[in-house]
Amino acid sequence: MPREELVMICCSDIAGQVRGKGFPARLLHERRHRGVGWTPTNIMITGHGPIAPSPWGPFGDLVLVPDLDAHVRVDFQDDTAPEHFVLGDIRHLDGRPWECCLRDFVRRGLDALRHETGLTVKAAFEHEFHFDGVEERPNSAYGLDAYRRQGTFAQTFMYALERAGLGPDTFMPEYGPCQYEVTIEPAIGLRAADEAVILREMARAAAARAGARASFTPILRPDAVGNGVHVHFSLLAADSRQPVNHDPDRAHGLSVTAGSFLAGILEHLPSLAALTAASTISYLRLVPHRWSAAYNNLGVRDREAAVRICPVFETAGVDVARQYHFEFRAADAAASPYLVLGALIWAGLDGLRRGLPTPTPSEGDPSTWSQAELDARGLMRLPQSLGAALDNLAASEAFKDWMGPTLHDVYLRHKRFEDENLSALPTEEQCARYRLVY
Ligand code: GLU
Ligand code: MG
Repeated sequence: MPREELVMICCSDIAGQVRGKGFPARLLHERRHRGVGWTPTNIMITGHGPIAPSPWGPFGDLVLVPDLDAHVRVDFQDDTAPEHFVLGDIRHLDGRPWECCLRDFVRRGLDALRHETGLTVKAAFEHEFHFDGVEERPNSAYGLDAYRRQGTFAQTFMYALERAGLGPDTFMPEYGPCQYEVTIEPAIGLRAADEAVILREMARAAAARAGARASFTPILRPDAVGNGVHVHFSLLAADSRQPVNHDPDRAHGLSVTAGSFLAGILEHLPSLAALTAASTISYLRLVPHRWSAAYNNLGVRDREAAVRICPVFETAGVDVARQYHFEFRAADAAASPYLVLGALIWAGLDGLRRGLPTPTPSEGDPSTWSQAELDARGLMRLPQSLGAALDNLAASEAFKDWMGPTLHDVYLRHKRFEDENLSALPTEEQCARYRLVY
């Protein structure tokens, strides 16, 4: 039967959901400036469906304009329609960025970082997820048999990533039930967050073609380990692209510049978590001994630290400064990748602006330390519920300034509404709901 190929202009919203409008692909060029119509209240649609109380109600008009640098077309060469979408920016009708455009939140952070320090950020989002096309069996972590049982999904997925313009790196069965992990090459600036959005969609697309579902829910059920999103990142000079993170003469090789950037992130973590661990069940994951993050600590090769200094392979001929980077572990895929990346940039920039001293990496298990010992090290337990994290975010004048008052207010309204609805349910039911929608 004849078909008309369609393309969808999409945004990834506060709920970390990708939404947009489709039209005949041959008209993409024609729509590259005027995009498609968009409604402010769309940003209040929660991941679970109900719409949070909206300051706009039925009023207002915006446009969702495609960014052709974020154009994805993957033909799976089967009978299915190609995956064809473009990520875009939300603007006012006169072309000004909308105050709640999440890509613009990242762009503004990158512009400020570059303008004030000459630096930019390189990042890669590492994802764990649940693939329901395999039977749950114990002891599957890194197992060749668990790898085999997912069939052709991984191959299709890696093919799709490549075709979508990402750099597939590794794929593996992880420790959790039916859990797999994928890593990709880093990208500079906004592109890193775009790639996180694209990666999740390619996983869903490949899984659907295997008759299965990939879920990026933060945690499958209360007794499982979580599905983390670990953001690998580093700073580089915006013009020369030279890395600035490593100083062989300082403790752990951590440069003064990177030290201040990390200190900013760790200081703001109690409120920043509301943006990076953005679901009610995210806080089942952020507990000690789940290999996620539970304190605002820096660690060296410590997989329970909020920020980890990653290992460098110091074999002959390897440029240590180019490899040396950090991993932020207190994020999951219920969060918008733009809010995650933007929050890290703004908080890190704050550390640079204030010249914060390099944090001392913690050694050992902070959950065994008394309050006095934590205080002495300047460490804090991360918020233990979404509600607590949102209260911190509400009180943060810094985030209000970086996000702008409208986005700050709207984010709080959206997430408080979601949290009120979800936290009233038994924990197992909360997990079941998130599994369905992420
Ligand atoms: N599943 C762990 C998390 O929730 C991460 C395990 C690891 O790869 O270190 O972040
Ligand atoms: Mg992992």
